[in-house]
Amino acid sequence: MKVAVFSTKSYDQEFLEAANTERGHELVFLEPRLTLETCVLAAGAQAVCAFVNDKLDAKTLSQLASQGIKLIALRSAGFNHVDITKATQLGLTVVRVPAYSPYAVAEHTIGLILALNRRIHRAYARIREGNFSLEGLIGFDLHGKTVGIIGTGKIGTITAQILKAFGCKLVAYDKSPNSDCQALGVEYVSLPQLLSTADIVSLHCPLIPDTHHLINAETIAQMKTGVMLINTSRGALIDTKAVINGLKSGKIGYLGLDVYEQEGDLFFEDFSNTVIQDDLFERLLTFPNVLITGHQAFFTVNALESIAETTLANISEFEQGKPCQNQVQAE
Ligand code: NAD
Repeated sequence: MKVAVFSTKSYDQEFLEAANTERGHELVFLEPRLTLETCVLAAGAQAVCAFVNDKLDAKTLSQLASQGIKLIALRSAGFNHVDITKATQLGLTVVRVPAYSPYAVAEHTIGLILALNRRIHRAYARIREGNFSLEGLIGFDLHGKTVGIIGTGKIGTITAQILKAFGCKLVAYDKSPNSDCQALGVEYVSLPQLLSTADIVSLHCPLIPDTHHLINAETIAQMKTGVMLINTSRGALIDTKAVINGLKSGKIGYLGLDVYEQEGDLFFEDFSNTVIQDDLFERLLTFPNVLITGHQAFFTVNALESIAETTLANISEFEQGKPCQNQVQAE
């Protein structure tokens, strides 16, 4: 099958080509993001392969369908960037990679917690400047602290397992409690209870209308003063303006982000020679207690191998007319 692969980076090409050797799909690697304007690049293809910041809204999907595209193969677990209802109306099949390496994201979450707590990002810069002062670098023992996990699916559960080994007390909020977490001793509580007891709040739920701006002025007000907030899930779970106010007042003591609401205009590209126009993002960078990575939590060799393998298996299944195991269905 001819597949137009959008938002291609060198690593995508490397891992997809390796996974394609036995399958023989015709992969056309394209650097641009998929938008209404770039659909034309998929001319002649039957499938498009897209990543998290590609824009699969109603207009783009209609254009793709009119060009003869039948399959949207996402290289991600999240599908909040796809208008699934429209895709279904147009007869487009959407497949995703439901799990590739939940360990990758969970371990990155722990990395953010440890780095923020022990100020490793600041210590790294200081030592390189010949500044060996410890002023401002004081941390706390994770042992005995309460961590609140919002969303205990695959990634939330592994994060809980790792934190359990640190000796943390774990509370969680999820509409469907997870038996592995319960066996681990995780206590399921209401969202207000979690927010009022957790020293660290870590977000692992999907971005859906229900969870959009889950962290806002009202929910921040319910948190402990000095709380650490970590988001490796999706940017729009957080109202950035409210979080900036929380940081300014000291309510939020630490913020670790791997995702950002408006990341589509920034992440995965090099803007080091330009003036970034996103004032909210730039404000976040001014806080010493904020650590941001550019949507790299998934970025391990294991995850890339798994993403490539599942993506190509999804495409082969569709081509062979088999039921698509990883099809995303409209609610
Ligand atoms: P999952 O589907 O296994 O788990 C999600 C959990 O969230 C489920 O248990 C679900 O019941 C729960 N949930 C749904 N709505 C909720 C709500 N309103 N409140 C609380 N919990 C709710 O997903 P996963 O594989 O663990 O991934 C979690 C998220 O991580 C994904 O949605 C994705 O956005 C994000 N992610 C980020 C990266 C990255 O590189 N930063 C990589 C992969 C996934």
